[in-house]
Amino acid sequence: MTLKVHQFPCLSDNYGFLLHDPDSGETAAIDTPDGEEYLRQAKAQGWAITHIWNTHWHPDHAGGNEAIVEATGAKVIAPTEVEKLSSIDRVVTHGDTVQLGEHRADVIDVSGHTNGHIAFHLPDDKIAFVGDSVFALGCGRMFEGQPQQFWGSLQRIKALPEDTVLYCAHEYTAANAKFALHADPDNAQLQAYAEDITAKRERDEPTVPTVLSRELATNPFLRADDPALAERWGGGAPHETFAALRAAKDDF
Ligand code: ZN
Ligand code: FE
Repeated sequence: MTLKVHQFPCLSDNYGFLLHDPDSGETAAIDTPDGEEYLRQAKAQGWAITHIWNTHWHPDHAGGNEAIVEATGAKVIAPTEVEKLSSIDRVVTHGDTVQLGEHRADVIDVSGHTNGHIAFHLPDDKIAFVGDSVFALGCGRMFEGQPQQFWGSLQRIKALPEDTVLYCAHEYTAANAKFALHADPDNAQLQAYAEDITAKRERDEPTVPTVLSRELATNPFLRADDPALAERWGGGAPHETFAALRAAKDDF
């Protein structure tokens, strides 16, 4: 049977995700912005949280670990940096695989927002949980990483099958769209996407998840190797164009 993803708002602009496998009965909490809310949401679905998969150590991603572990005994699978906030049962890095029942997730290094930021890609299910590495029309702020490292991470995301559904951890899309239109004003697909986003937000609907094919055509940070972006934003190499775009977004 196919996996179920239950998505719900958490804190001010995070999304919570519960990933449930009906065959094994296992349920993974993808990040833990708010432990109590995760426990409430799982209970309402009739699911028991068996695992926590953290993408990175920020408190709005791992701050609920301890409350969930205490209530459920869930096993924490996380990059080593999460030890700043909670104990870890299994430390994972790039190239590792994680199971939920028979379903496999590949762990991908997407560092740059923080060091030790990972994504969970489930190739057979065509979904990926990307934390704060890439957002709909944006990417995470570069708190700990370097442009070359972050650009390398985005290239790994770009290399996933383009029908991969991306679960990003925040509802930042409306603000991201404003910057994207500034960064890449002649992109007709971006203009159409931005209109969809405005309409969705007016109806109070989430813009997450997104799909990689659409981001490849419109997300300026994934398009830092596109000649049009390079010409407008400068840089002799894509990671330099990426750095210019990231700096401009920080001040936008
Ligand atoms: Zn973060
Ligand atoms: Fe975050």
